[in-house]
Amino acid sequence: MTGAPFNILWLQSGGCGGCTMSLLCADAPDLMTTLKSAGIHILWHPTLSEETGAEAIALFDEVLSGAVPLHALCIEGALLRGPNGTGRFHVLAGTETPTIDWVRRLAGVAEHVVAVGSCAAYGGVTAAGVNPADACGLAYDGRQPGGALGGAFRSRSGLPVVNVAGCPTHPNWVTETLMLLAAGLLGPGDLDSYGRPRFYADHLVHHGCPRNEYYEYKASAEKLSDLGCMMEHLGCLGTQAHADCNTRLWNGEGSCTRGGYACINCTAPEFEEPGHAFLQTPKIGGIPVGLPTDMPKAWFIALSSLAKAATPERLRRNAVSDHEVIPPAVRDIKRR
Ligand code: SF4
Ligand code: SF4
Repeated sequence: MTGAPFNILWLQSGGCGGCTMSLLCADAPDLMTTLKSAGIHILWHPTLSEETGAEAIALFDEVLSGAVPLHALCIEGALLRGPNGTGRFHVLAGTETPTIDWVRRLAGVAEHVVAVGSCAAYGGVTAAGVNPADACGLAYDGRQPGGALGGAFRSRSGLPVVNVAGCPTHPNWVTETLMLLAAGLLGPGDLDSYGRPRFYADHLVHHGCPRNEYYEYKASAEKLSDLGCMMEHLGCLGTQAHADCNTRLWNGEGSCTRGGYACINCTAPEFEEPGHAFLQTPKIGGIPVGLPTDMPKAWFIALSSLAKAATPERLRRNAVSDHEVIPPAVRDIKRR
């Protein structure tokens, strides 16, 4: 790749660092090869860069002065407004300035601002419970526009904050977003109503889940090791979660549901507080409260009672077993 590099600067605030850990799992090709091939240059990253302390601060000052162009400011972790709106729960090491103020200043000179992960996007796990640190996202406070920069924020490119939501994010959601931005191919219409890139958020986790045959017949798992669909009893939100986890796959082969765990909808604002245990499916009159996206309740009730009545014995038994107890029958197709 020739031409000027697309400079990114990455800061971390109130989070666990899991999105960086996930990013390092980018493969085919690896992270550095991917970024290099797209002309993306990491100006600084707290884990990946050698510079620390005064050297890093000097670089931030150069960016603020305009001496070094900043094409994408990437923020990982929620922004901490506490105590009492001062932001002093997280002061950037080596400075007397709260990180939230560094972020606001740098966002003012950045071509694009990218929230990496649900904490930076909406507050995420860091904002759960009584939220003593007054954590929030860059442009959202949970579901509500607001946050550290305000819901009306637009970066110099005119785009709102690009919310690469996920807990953690899939490494390729991040690299593809940066590559699209670097190529000038991500416009306002490419973001969904929560600011998530549509290339991954226009999918549902349910798409491609290997438990779909069980879902169709409402043959449900009753405990975590069971093979059946986890929607009815184990809290799976895959039919409502906006992400391509079961078609893109993680680490080349996995996903939450393929690993035997329910999807908890980690790309959505306020996923961290569903109001019940993650592995519980809240129901009214035996019907799950959270119905599949786009499905009217009456249809769901009618279809699921029909499906349950028609469930093949193979699926009924396998659904509540940790291994296949009845294989699909072999039929002579010419004799059907
Ligand atoms: S386990 Fe979840 S994602 Fe998989 S088929 Fe059931 S509802 Fe869909
Ligand atoms: S399957 Fe659901 S909980 Fe798991 S990473 Fe994807 S969106 Fe998040």
